[in-house]
Amino acid sequence: MQQRHRVVIIGSGFGGLFATRALRRAAVEVTLIDRTAQHLFQPLLYQVATGILSEGEIAPSTRNILRRQKNARTILGEVTAIDLTERTVTSTAVGVDITIPYDSLIVSAGSATSYFGHDDFIDHAPGLKSIDDALALRGRIFGAFELAEIEPDPVIRQEWLTFVVVGAGATGVEMAGQIAELAHRSLRGDFRCIDTRQARIILVDGADAPLATFGTRLSARAADQLKRLGVDLWLGNMVVDVDDTGIEVVDNAGHRVRIPSRTKVWSAGVTASPLARTLAAQTGVQLVRGGRIPVQPDLTLPGHPEVFVVGDMIALDDLPGVAQVAIQGGKFAAEQIKRRLLRKNTNRRFDYFDKGSMATISRFHAVASVGPIQVGGFLAWVMWLVVHLVYLVGFKNRLTTLFHWAVSFIGSGRSERTGSHQQAIGPIATRALGLGPLSSPADVARRTDNKEAV
Ligand SMILES: Cc1cc2nc3c(=O)[nH]c(=O)nc-3n(C[C@H](O)[C@H](O)[C@H](O)COP(=O)(O)OP(=O)(O)OC[C@H]3O[C@@H](n4cnc5c(N)ncnc54)[C@H](O)[C@@H]3O)c2cc1C
Repeated sequence: MQQRHRVVIIGSGFGGLFATRALRRAAVEVTLIDRTAQHLFQPLLYQVATGILSEGEIAPSTRNILRRQKNARTILGEVTAIDLTERTVTSTAVGVDITIPYDSLIVSAGSATSYFGHDDFIDHAPGLKSIDDALALRGRIFGAFELAEIEPDPVIRQEWLTFVVVGAGATGVEMAGQIAELAHRSLRGDFRCIDTRQARIILVDGADAPLATFGTRLSARAADQLKRLGVDLWLGNMVVDVDDTGIEVVDNAGHRVRIPSRTKVWSAGVTASPLARTLAAQTGVQLVRGGRIPVQPDLTLPGHPEVFVVGDMIALDDLPGVAQVAIQGGKFAAEQIKRRLLRKNTNRRFDYFDKGSMATISRFHAVASVGPIQVGGFLAWVMWLVVHLVYLVGFKNRLTTLFHWAVSFIGSGRSERTGSHQQAIGPIATRALGLGPLSSPADVARRTDNKEAV
């Protein structure tokens, strides 16, 4: 019996999942490899970090999503090697290495947070790219209010109550807006010693306007709404240093200023998955800005018509790193594979259809740019709600998400404030006490005791 065409897909994010689903009726065997067992809806990560949604709502199990797709299997593992000559992919998970041969390969491994060469900032200003990041940030944000409540020194208390978000793109604006709502509205009556409305939320960016890619009118509207929420905009400021207790910026005139703050969030840049480098090394292709790999107009790797690269990793026609580029790219790659098997014409190019972009600023306020239409305010917010609900995977997720949005936006509650000790107080308190990395609450207690003994 002839073996079925083997398609290996790396990444169960937007590009990988939509490619897999587009192959459901094809005579192929799909192997989907990801280092996590979930499909992550990244645009709502900031809502997990700020206690609006639970992680399960935006990161359903990939295995469960694909349970009825009999021609697809999922494998947990970090892809460590791609051999373009032997046509194999090797992945590893806790010491278990698997090498899988392919006839067609789709690489959709996305991107990671970039610190522009300052990787030492990571511990002090985490990014927001994964569920781990969102839960760690949730712990830091809610933990900061808890530690402010018990801090006797007013200077340190204000450090706990100062939140700095770096990067005024969509993620930074959404984070700053939600932390402001949290401090000024949701947590207002929960504390006895501190007034959470005293919290300072600072949004820093080297550019002169927030949401610059949305055009001058919507950008000005966003700036206006952020100020109304109580967010301080520090625009035209470059971050030059970050440590445990603060962040240093240099403005356009060269003045260096330190902002004392215990909680910093980094949403200033991304860089393509290192797998782009792996592919480039074997093809002689030069990576471009942001570590992206140039691809052919049909999304294939130069010299390798059997390898497609889609989503955040690619450089093609200045396409942005957004979900729709990955979704449409994944579907296009799957379609090309099907056409090849049916011996249909595959001499086609990937034509991206721009459905527009949106960003929320706070409850009832968003900006949306769809073709020639530019709207801000409540209408844009409703559009944002509908679009995000449509793209969330799973009926149950949509229902519970809608419920949690009602709790947070119509009411003022945050139903997802839970953080494990390790995610929350543990790391924050540990850093504040200068104890270095720890692994458990018992460690915290033991090392705190030791410190007191010294
Ligand atoms: C906080 C945030 C907010 C965003 N908001 C928006 C928005 O509002 N609108 C919008 O359009 N876009 C938004 N984006 C961008 C959008 O999410 C990305 O463009 C999109 O996810 C890219 O899809 P992808 O398939 O290329 O990569 P991803 O969706 O990132 O998927 C990559 C997958 O590959 C896996 N992976 C990576 N490396 C390996 C490896 N070596 N081995 C195994 N698996 C691996 C990862 O675990 C991941 O599951 C946002 C992104 C972030 C981080």
